[in-house]
Amino acid sequence: MSAQEVESIFADIVERARAADPTRARKWFEDLRVIRFDGGSLGIGCPEEASVRFLDQNCKGTFTRAAQQVTGHLVTVDFLISNGQTQKTVETLPPGPALHPDYTFDNFVVGPSNRLAHASCIAVSQALGTTYNPLFLYGNAGLGKTHLLHAVCHGIRRTSGTASIQLLSCEEFVNRFIRAIEQGSLGSFHSQFRTVDALIIDDVQFLREREQSQEEFFHTFNAIYNNGRQIILSADSPPAEIPSLEDRLVSRFNWGLVARIDPPSYETRIAIVQKKAHLRGLEIGDEIAEYIARQVQANIRELEGALTTIYALATTLGEPVDLQLAQTALEGQIKLATKHISITDIIDVVTRHFDVRLADLQSKRRSQSITVPRQICMYLARNLTRHSLEEIGGHLGGRDHTTVMHACGKIAEAQQSDPNMQALLRELTKRVTQGQQVA
Ligand code: ADP
Ligand code: MG
Repeated sequence: MSAQEVESIFADIVERARAADPTRARKWFEDLRVIRFDGGSLGIGCPEEASVRFLDQNCKGTFTRAAQQVTGHLVTVDFLISNGQTQKTVETLPPGPALHPDYTFDNFVVGPSNRLAHASCIAVSQALGTTYNPLFLYGNAGLGKTHLLHAVCHGIRRTSGTASIQLLSCEEFVNRFIRAIEQGSLGSFHSQFRTVDALIIDDVQFLREREQSQEEFFHTFNAIYNNGRQIILSADSPPAEIPSLEDRLVSRFNWGLVARIDPPSYETRIAIVQKKAHLRGLEIGDEIAEYIARQVQANIRELEGALTTIYALATTLGEPVDLQLAQTALEGQIKLATKHISITDIIDVVTRHFDVRLADLQSKRRSQSITVPRQICMYLARNLTRHSLEEIGGHLGGRDHTTVMHACGKIAEAQQSDPNMQALLRELTKRVTQGQQVA
């Protein structure tokens, strides 16, 4: 096979993977390169460690299936970090926090609501332990705390590749502490946390009412602080308002800078929607971005969810994104805010339409009158809910995730090639999102 042929096959694979799972597709998929392709095994290289982890965790199945569709046979897919000569797989990466590749400073939209938090995170990432220590971020859920903490780590990695960082949720910290007590390995627990250059702990409100963990945290804090190392914390409220947090911790958390993050303004929300769309390689008109920003106000995660819903609906229906489609999608989404679309909603609509029973869908029967509605349920659940493949399989008779993936692939293909299927999916999707009963 010539290099050119490999390139074109690979472009095809990426295109299919993108279409099969638009929510996980990213613009930087364009930068992926073939490192090796010998027919049975495909090594895909990207320059960033975080991207490799992201692909490995989220996209392996999608790429494997896309490669199989394009080549017509089974292909093993591996993601590799490639910088010049060296290539490493995820398994051989040095230990360290698994950073989300999207959560960088570049991808963070700055506005009046988060300017201080953002600026202080930048300052800290450039000079550990010398500017604001500790740095304490707080704000409601979905306003970007975790994003900023990951961005700090990306920043530290860039400026000082050798700095040792611990980034983890407070819950994880507490769990590891408990495990260390049970296993009698407190010594190694201490050396893991007390000697790092930066300790970054997310959601410290989790410490509430955990006396023993607070005690441990207190000593960890002191050790790091006294060594002039950096501490960064986040929580859903300011230190003094975290219920039953010991005074000595409250006072320490207030020693450095406490930065609040507020809900974003309308303009910031529009910019965030545009940024997220760009990141996913989606075209989005101003009208749609403004519409989404008007509909969703309090939580950026939901803003992103709205964007995902609109594009998932467009993919499911095979229609372009316009304002009307956005409205249809978000009417469902607004319903979603109070009542999430569940697999049960989908199963209801599908079983009524095909006049089959749920028990049939869950059974082992493989006649077409049963497999098609079963596969359609899986496909719609995949696109319209946030359930994992495993959960979807669980609802439909304990089927495993590869079965669900296969089903989604079959329906997606039929959707492309069969106008009847396309019309049917459109109708069923509308019924599910609008919560209408089928006559
Ligand atoms: P929190 O940890 O405060 O609950 P997250 O950091 O998980 O919130 O943010 C939720 C989602 O919103 C993430 O996908 C994140 O990328 C996004 N987000 C939050 N703030 C911004 C921002 N200012 N710019 C871009 N994306 C943002
Ligand atoms: Mg968070």
